[in-house]
Amino acid sequence: MQTITATRPAPGVLRQQEAYVRATGYFYAVDFGEHVRPRHHYVGINAECNCDLGSACPAVDAVRAYLKEGGKRADRPPFGYYPVRPMKCPICNEKTGDAPSLSSPHRGAGWICPSGTSHYWKHRAHISAQRPGSQP
Ligand SMILES: [Zn+2]
Ligand SMILES: [Zn+2]
Repeated sequence: MQTITATRPAPGVLRQQEAYVRATGYFYAVDFGEHVRPRHHYVGINAECNCDLGSACPAVDAVRAYLKEGGKRADRPPFGYYPVRPMKCPICNEKTGDAPSLSSPHRGAGWICPSGTSHYWKHRAHISAQRPGSQP
């Protein structure tokens, strides 16, 4: 049997095994060490990094490996609160984009999808209807 080494398009010098991961609030802070730029990455519970690579960032893989090894999980946000936008629209399942104008301290990060803002508000209405304590 031959050992097959999986190669994936990871940028340059990042080597996952050197990553140091810790849960901080609603995020995972990933430290790749002083030889990597950018050194610090923040991965949300939506499995997207805050850097330009987004979900393709090796920091996301580092967080997966960390959780697999029994690492401490990031805090679950309160019901209906999004510390980061969802990766996909909960209504149409298309990729979302940032919409800072929709962000609020109560709702968290705003987002838009190919439909514009309509699915965002549809989803918020759905959340309000489900909010614990809202039933009689
Ligand atoms: Zn990153
Ligand atoms: Zn949508």
